[in-house]
Amino acid sequence: MLELRNYHSVIPATVFFATLLLAGCNTLPACVQDDCNCGDFTYQEEAQVVLDAFEGDPHRLDQDGNGRACESLPRQPNRAPIAADDPLPYGNPSDASPSDLSDLLIEKDQYTLAYSCDRGIAHWVAWRLNTDWFGPAERNDDFRADPDLPEGCPVVTPSDYRGSGFDRGHLAPSADRTRSQADNSATFLMTNMIPQAPENNREVWRELEEYTRDLVFEGHELYIIAGGSGTQGKLAGKVTIPRYTWKIILILDDDNPTVTEDTPIIAVWMPNDDSVDDTDWQDYLVSVDKIEKETGFDFFSVLAKPLQRAIESQVY
Ligand code: MN
Ligand code: MN
Repeated sequence: MLELRNYHSVIPATVFFATLLLAGCNTLPACVQDDCNCGDFTYQEEAQVVLDAFEGDPHRLDQDGNGRACESLPRQPNRAPIAADDPLPYGNPSDASPSDLSDLLIEKDQYTLAYSCDRGIAHWVAWRLNTDWFGPAERNDDFRADPDLPEGCPVVTPSDYRGSGFDRGHLAPSADRTRSQADNSATFLMTNMIPQAPENNREVWRELEEYTRDLVFEGHELYIIAGGSGTQGKLAGKVTIPRYTWKIILILDDDNPTVTEDTPIIAVWMPNDDSVDDTDWQDYLVSVDKIEKETGFDFFSVLAKPLQRAIESQVY
């Protein structure tokens, strides 16, 4: 009889969640009673669950020993996006529309954005985050032009950032979209990037992203909007370097995702330069009202005014 490992101590969190999603609560496919081979699975992720569940690969699913089972199998296709019919449940902060090149609404399965063809960056990117979005995908690193831009909108390419000293900084983070390789790849479109100072992108901004995912693992469902504001020059004559980066994180409970006056919000407004070196993201906490004032956008516009006033005036 094969010995089953203890899931909680051995399997990393991402695989554990994939296990729950793919196999139900710790149930393994019937073939494990006898002998599984790659032909028993439709998707690579299903084989991975079996590989990870047993010591020493008794089913020989990982012939090349790199830790990935049955690599010739296709990856699991995208499951239905969360609330696909309502990508902006709290309103459209800038009234972006699919026909306005200076405030262009683009809806993707993984996030929604308002893109400025004049600025060469998004005004904002909005996305939801809960554990459904986490899975086995690895960082795709396929930075590339966004094919969804209409005619008349200058196309930004990865090389526009080359040699500038600014990072291609994600607004919706790669690590927030690991359910499938396709989901992760979508975060590498250049419309999801801003020229970001390395001290901002790799330190305070990244630390807030990690804190955000911790909130999800603690049982919260999040609604996040992020962007770059102001101008400190342009890259390649077309990509605006924002003077500030900002982010708003609405923190809902997984079992009761309703906004009340007590719903906490993290809002930050950070200089996009090396002055943020050796600081903490908490040093940049502001109210949503502050970001509304600076950007001219109206967040949470579908909520009743008294409720907006309550949640937008708080500082986390
Ligand atoms: Mn307000
Ligand atoms: Mn508002």
